[in-house]
Amino acid sequence: MNVRSQGTVEGTVQGVGFRPFIHRLALRYNLAGYVANTPHGVELQVEGPSEAVERFFASILAEHPPLARIHSLERKDGLPLGHESVFEIKDSLGGRKRSTLIPPDVSVCKDCLDELFDPSDRRHRYPFINCINCGPRYTIIRDIPYDRAMTTMAGFTMCPACRSEYEDPADRRFHAQPNACPRCGPALSLYDTAGQEVPVEDPLAAAIELIKAGLTVAVKGLGGFHLAVDATQDRAVLRLRRKKNREEKPLAVMVPDLRTAVGLASISGAESELLASAQRPIVLVTKRPDHGLSEAVAPGNPLLGLMLPYTPLHHLLLAEGGFRALVMTSGNISEEPIAAGNQEAFRRLAGIADAFLAHNRGIHVRTDDSVTRVVEGRPRQIRRSRGYVPAPLPLPGGSDALPSVLALGAHLKNTVCLTRGNQAFMSQHVGDLENMETLESFKHTIEHLQGILEIKPAFLARDLHPDYLSSRFALERPGIPAIPVQHHHAHIASVLAENGIPSPVIGLSLDGAGLGDDGTIWGGEVLVADLVSYRRAAHLEHAYLPGGDAAAREPWRMALSCLYRAYGTGLYDTPIPLIRHLDRSKAEIMVKMMEKSLNSPLTSSCGRLFDAAAALAGLRRRNTYEGQAAMELEMARTPGTREKYPWEITASKDLLILKTVPLIRALVEDVIRGEPTGVVSSRFHNTLIDLLAAACGEIGRKTGIRDVAMSGGVFQNATLSAGLGRVLGRLGFRVLTNSMVPANDGGIALGQAASAALRAAG
Ligand code: ZN
Ligand code: ZN
Ligand code: FE
Repeated sequence: MNVRSQGTVEGTVQGVGFRPFIHRLALRYNLAGYVANTPHGVELQVEGPSEAVERFFASILAEHPPLARIHSLERKDGLPLGHESVFEIKDSLGGRKRSTLIPPDVSVCKDCLDELFDPSDRRHRYPFINCINCGPRYTIIRDIPYDRAMTTMAGFTMCPACRSEYEDPADRRFHAQPNACPRCGPALSLYDTAGQEVPVEDPLAAAIELIKAGLTVAVKGLGGFHLAVDATQDRAVLRLRRKKNREEKPLAVMVPDLRTAVGLASISGAESELLASAQRPIVLVTKRPDHGLSEAVAPGNPLLGLMLPYTPLHHLLLAEGGFRALVMTSGNISEEPIAAGNQEAFRRLAGIADAFLAHNRGIHVRTDDSVTRVVEGRPRQIRRSRGYVPAPLPLPGGSDALPSVLALGAHLKNTVCLTRGNQAFMSQHVGDLENMETLESFKHTIEHLQGILEIKPAFLARDLHPDYLSSRFALERPGIPAIPVQHHHAHIASVLAENGIPSPVIGLSLDGAGLGDDGTIWGGEVLVADLVSYRRAAHLEHAYLPGGDAAAREPWRMALSCLYRAYGTGLYDTPIPLIRHLDRSKAEIMVKMMEKSLNSPLTSSCGRLFDAAAALAGLRRRNTYEGQAAMELEMARTPGTREKYPWEITASKDLLILKTVPLIRALVEDVIRGEPTGVVSSRFHNTLIDLLAAACGEIGRKTGIRDVAMSGGVFQNATLSAGLGRVLGRLGFRVLTNSMVPANDGGIALGQAASAALRAAG
């Protein structure tokens, strides 16, 4: 006997081959009915023998297309029979509310790659090959609904062959909006430094020759331009560094395949899975000593940022050039946003690139490569961007009653976050809001995200710091109430949101800087917090920040500050290399500034404590990029060293002060004794782990809380994060960390959004 059932599917189910998939299933089980897009997702009805209907529904969940994300499948049985004889794909069913999701960009799939390298295929060597399972999405979508006309492919009219694929439900390119071929689609061109097209037969082959000759070619990718040089050529890499004004910060490297990656670095199962995933992030992995790349790729750094090719053009470039590894670094000057438009790239990269391998498929929103690292077997996002955005993250509570919030993020590593009900949409990486280009990009990102998601936020969430450009943006919109969220609370809230934890936790929030609610600069905080509120339960002992922001760039200033705290003006007599090499008059000015509290705010920053330790240990007096000294301190450590330095915890009322002066004195004595830097570094790490664990233990005893959430940029330090996690585990705590959003300020917007949404909801 026949039955009829209806299924309503919500999630990422449009533009991902979902309807053809349903169509194929219906044919397989010999069912009649229909499938259609709705404003909420997809609706289907099937009619046939009940056993076949059961198997049909089971197959939806088991076999759905790789890019589809099913958030819910609601089923209604016992519908009146329709007695139709076929299964039909309907266009769209009307309705007003929109909750369909725009898919992220996806690396080129295996089927398309096979065609790309098949000389008999009509898309042989075509750099823009794609299908419903792969290709550009988020970066080319101007507006919704997600149709070709609303993408940067609007100007290309499909040829008859492409059109028939596009219209055939059985075809892999059915409704693949960016579908194209060499006859009808975008094409590559080579441009010189003046932005003039170079008349060459094969732009790709010409670009390959330039790279082989040691030159820099700007290559247009999915979310922006890369600057490409041969990673095995020392001079080429050094030249790129000089022109890009990038002294020592590691450069990302693209390799043709996993096998090559394994030859360059030691790669775990979890790391190779990430490298080969459809998102294709940059993965930080440990170099092999015999990697054979230029040392200038990641000087003095045991890690290497690797990625596999993700566009057809990347595959062609690596395969036809026979390159073992290409530096593929963002097309920008130091901290500016990545160049995305052709004209923009010609203008901004003219002084860096020797040629441009570009094309006429527009990039609507610039989106950098994502960066991840596996710590303790778990992937951790360092930069969540291309491939992940705009896939939503669930907010805890599961309540659709939450108001929509636009969270504006922090000042550095800015991202924004929009919420709708219990879904949080994090933006791509915007960058440091310190120049006009980035500010423009910030505004465009907000507009675009609001447009494609059709969200009008009822509230804004901003950092407590009123002078951040992101905060000012909020304050200039008097129509929408802006809810301030303290920086370190937002870090902890991001962990709570990610892990769906509604109850209070002990929050270890360790980073470089954020404004505290007492007007001082925080950064070494132990909070007792839930999503809505927090209390500062402990913090690292204060130190002066001589010269304010300059102290973050020049670790020697923090070293001086810690010495001053430990020895007063006796600091000049400490016989350590740092003092011997110090410009005495400059040091005296610094000390005067601290004595008189001139441009020397107080901070409890943990990041700055790392800087001080690194400079005292003799590693580095000046950073060429953010967090460099702290990173080098971690890299220097001698594993297996068990000793630690003394510390002390004092209490004033409900607040614990984590005293680090004893630590600094002991560290300095080690340096005077000539202990190896590695040993000093290990003892420093051990001490911090011990001290923070003791603070958690004390607070746990007082409050009865057994959960510890760890967040903030300092937790990118794997030694601290893993070591502290183990010790806290032994003390009986459950340890919660970030994984899907960065622990650094790139994850702040999620915490702001979650906290503000709950607070606004009362
Ligand atoms: Zn494909
Ligand atoms: Zn075509
Ligand atoms: Fe932070």
